[in-house]
Amino acid sequence: RFSDKVAIITGSSNGIGQATAVLLASEGAKVTITGRNSDRLEETKKLLLNAHVPENHINVVIGDITQDTVQETLIKTTLDKFGKIDILINNAGAGIPDPQGKTGVNQSIDTYHKTFELNVQSVLEMTQKARPHLAKSQGEIVNISSIGAGPAAQVANPYYSIAKAALDQYTRTAAIDLVAENIRVNSVSPGAVATGFSNVSRGLNEEKSKKLYDYLASQKECIPRGFCAGPEDIAKVIAFLADRNASNYIIGQTIVADGGTSLI
Ligand code: NAD
Repeated sequence: RFSDKVAIITGSSNGIGQATAVLLASEGAKVTITGRNSDRLEETKKLLLNAHVPENHINVVIGDITQDTVQETLIKTTLDKFGKIDILINNAGAGIPDPQGKTGVNQSIDTYHKTFELNVQSVLEMTQKARPHLAKSQGEIVNISSIGAGPAAQVANPYYSIAKAALDQYTRTAAIDLVAENIRVNSVSPGAVATGFSNVSRGLNEEKSKKLYDYLASQKECIPRGFCAGPEDIAKVIAFLADRNASNYIIGQTIVADGGTSLI
């Protein structure tokens, strides 16, 4: 599906981003993978090579996606190495735990700024920087949101949920703004996905995180589909939206992939 396509996937050292990089690249895409942890990025690279992705189809950028210089490097090295950009997957994101463990309206304003910087601002900035190149290639943007965006209230992690709600509105706005340039913008909203996400967002260690996912998976009243998604389940939906042949008539939509959680 993705032969001759060039994709940047943010937050691809782990979880959903890593699975998306492997899926797109194993179907022909040249990929720029990026994250803050060089060891984990090396693991993603190994997974790509094991999936028979040629080494010259892989570009690795280490850094924090909220930093302007890292964003510039992502665009520049992708163009230098592959000559164009067809697909931007804005996947990097997380809930930022409040340093004092506060929830609800008492969370610190510093936590708010950090949460928005990562989950919203970095997406706007990457979109602005990739835009002229996506216009040239008539490309696709897929943002990764969350069912935390609503309509259920999210007292435990309020800034994360309002950031993802803002992202959903941005997806709609950007889709209409960029449609004239033949760039499509869409979004995927996962429910619970078994990744490292919970460790970061809920301050859980790996063992507690696994217990949480196992518990959720066992509770039909949490996930009617009866299992907790793996990152590959979400990567398939992202790939559908990144594939113009499959989803050309869809713009500005947020596709919920949550095993039915938001229906009950
Ligand atoms: P993960 O923690 O496994 O992966 C997140 C990736 O983003 C990692 O590669 C991490 O290094 C990267 N990242 C985070 N902050 C970064 C920063 N400042 N700079 C650069 N990279 C950074 O989590 P995941 O579950 O794969 O999350 C991917 C996306 O899916 C996120 O946007 C998250 O909000 C969303 N999501 C996850 C779940 C879930 O249950 N796992 C549910 C809904 C939405």
